[in-house]
Amino acid sequence: MSTILARQLGKSYGKDSGTVRALSDVSFTIASGEFVGVMGESGAGKSTLLSILGAMNTPTSGDLQVDGIDVYALKAEQRADFRREFLGFVFQSFHLIPYLTLLENVMLPLTPLAMPTREKRARASAALQRVGLEDKGGRLPGEASGGEKERCAIARAVVNAPPVLLADEPTGNLDTRTSDAVMNLFKGLNAEGMTIVMVTHSSRCASYVERILKLNDGRIANTAPDPKTRFVRSLDKSLQSSSGCGTSDWQAAVD
Ligand code: ADP
Repeated sequence: MSTILARQLGKSYGKDSGTVRALSDVSFTIASGEFVGVMGESGAGKSTLLSILGAMNTPTSGDLQVDGIDVYALKAEQRADFRREFLGFVFQSFHLIPYLTLLENVMLPLTPLAMPTREKRARASAALQRVGLEDKGGRLPGEASGGEKERCAIARAVVNAPPVLLADEPTGNLDTRTSDAVMNLFKGLNAEGMTIVMVTHSSRCASYVERILKLNDGRIANTAPDPKTRFVRSLDKSLQSSSGCGTSDWQAAVD
């Protein structure tokens, strides 16, 4: 259960004549278990919106509710607890600690939890297995490929089993094949019930989501399902029923 309700969010940076209005009157609902893409030109407000959803950037106006919790009415410490309990983050630049192994990186979010190290290690191993890195846990990030680093970052984001995953250009540094593998991982997590909000510039990645939130100059431009996605889904359904073929086989036709 993790319904996200944004009401008339606004965000300005700076003061007086130097003020930049990054978001204006942004309202939407994301239902529990949705996979939503956030798109828009550079400077449209995508990162600002994601950081507000991530309980890291106080809006200038409006409010954000997650499961009925008014996120920005929480005190800083409560908000940190909220972040830890409700949210997983995946970034384009991985943010792995270079001198910790992949397994130790995945264990990091478990550090504050009162649980034996053995159990933390078991949970982190299970998360690495979830992303297909079970035999690479002993490597340092410097010994891993870009795709492996991203998969490790995803394992770290989901090791706490948060109901909501926020991703900022998660495939921005990856080749097409590796991006598809990461998107299929996201699809799998989403199928298990995780709500995912992903900023992306890539129409290929956007074809994996259920709905696009499009931002234009800090305002919502359109919240309708992406017609291309709808087309691929209906094509996929009819093909699955007739020939057993899946969406991934048709991704190339979309881009
Ligand atoms: P996007 O992620 O779509 O590129 P951003 O949310 O990063 O957009 O930025 C939206 C607008 O807010 C841009 O004009 C950007 O320059 C401005 N902006 C973002 N962060 C800051 C900040 N910390 N201080 C001042 N202006 C900012």
